[in-house]
Amino acid sequence: MANPRDKSSLDRLAGLSYLNPAAPEPWASFVEQIERVRPHLGELERWIETLKHPKRALIVDVPIERDDGTVAHYEGYRVQHSLSRGPGKGGVRFHPDVTLNEVMALAGWMTIKNAAVGLPFGGAKGGIRVDPASVSKGELQRITRRYTSEIGIVIGPDKDIPAPDVGTNAMTMAVMMDTFSMNRGGTATGVVTGKPIALGGSLGRQEATGRGVYITAREAGRHLQLPIEGARVVVQGFGNVGGIGARLFHEAGARVIAIADHTATLVNEAGIDIPAALEHTAAHGGLAGFAGAAPIDIEDFWRLQCEFLVPAALEGQLTVDRAAGVRARVVVEGANGPTTPAADDVLRERGILVVPDVLANAGGVTVSYFEWVQDFSSFFWTEDEINDRLERIMVGAFGAIWKIAEEKRVSLRTAAFIIACHRVLEARAERGLYP
Ligand code: NAD
Repeated sequence: MANPRDKSSLDRLAGLSYLNPAAPEPWASFVEQIERVRPHLGELERWIETLKHPKRALIVDVPIERDDGTVAHYEGYRVQHSLSRGPGKGGVRFHPDVTLNEVMALAGWMTIKNAAVGLPFGGAKGGIRVDPASVSKGELQRITRRYTSEIGIVIGPDKDIPAPDVGTNAMTMAVMMDTFSMNRGGTATGVVTGKPIALGGSLGRQEATGRGVYITAREAGRHLQLPIEGARVVVQGFGNVGGIGARLFHEAGARVIAIADHTATLVNEAGIDIPAALEHTAAHGGLAGFAGAAPIDIEDFWRLQCEFLVPAALEGQLTVDRAAGVRARVVVEGANGPTTPAADDVLRERGILVVPDVLANAGGVTVSYFEWVQDFSSFFWTEDEINDRLERIMVGAFGAIWKIAEEKRVSLRTAAFIIACHRVLEARAERGLYP
């Protein structure tokens, strides 16, 4: 039988609205999270349906000539969930499992993240259903260029600004920037963020998400009288977010006792030498073979006693079963959507604080915002200036969300959604409906 993922979104959409209430995950999860905010919206509730209708969802065909002379077609998307507060902003994912439904949910979460932190952006996301490892470098570049041209009608420095996500990086952004600029006949550095420094990228961007994870963990610890110094930390994912997050915890005097990536799950109760683990990963492509810690079963990993547990790898890792065994005081969501909604409830019932993804990993988009501002003004800041401003924004957002959570007796996630939905829907109401 054919794999349903092989069916194009167009086929699946024929006769089925993509807003169908029976829509699959993760869009259904996003809608459920929006519904939880309904009782807290007051008069703005009138506008809540806006958030359940992405403003624009573009499906594009991406044909390329392969190296062997055959023609291959890939399906690509750019979804602008909301543009009420400013241009769209959100990453581009290259992954074999990308679907329109997933891109819609990720775009919705970007609307919430940008508004929760107070950035002047709407929310957007893009993607291509492709396994980057299955194509050559040249093919990947042709895919990226054709995709950028196809979505060129909806992106732009003042319309919608893509950035890297899973499967894409600074080089992808360089190619997107070049393609958009070529089509326009002039260099437009501000059309994407997460670019190489030589093309108007920002200092501090690569570290920004991990730094934000660390800052929000530290702030949560401050409220719970859990100092970072001496705290035990467990981190899943040892890439951009998890690796840098672990390093910052380590530098601040925490004891990172367990780390995991797609090659190994490791523990050392005495504390892992994180710089050595990062060096090993850079040299060998993963943690496998790192001698400074011992292998541990992945289910035992989730049950390790610690102060901070940081899932920073994939979606849906903290399931109900795992959440029931977690022995951390605080879960800091470095990844997007690592905790299932049901597991989120279990953690809350068990008194474990969750710093939600829309706050904890917002450092990346915050420094993307700085990059966009620097490109517009053609005036570049020092790394210290960037880190100081990031610190101020993250600490401010954490404080505001904490206050609402206490006042309304809701989780930090619901509090972040309340603040964000108010901001988006207030903008929506002030603008009014056109025509
Ligand atoms: P990355 O590719 O740099 O790192 C991912 C890490 O996860 C790698 O260490 C990989 O080995 C590990 N991993 C993959 N599969 C695993 C498995 N089955 N078990 C354990 N570990 C596994 O990606 P990243 O940029 O660090 O992104 C991680 C998460 O953070 C994603 O959910 C992403 O959407 C989110 N995020 C990233 C940024 C950013 O700026 N990079 C910003 C916001 C959110």
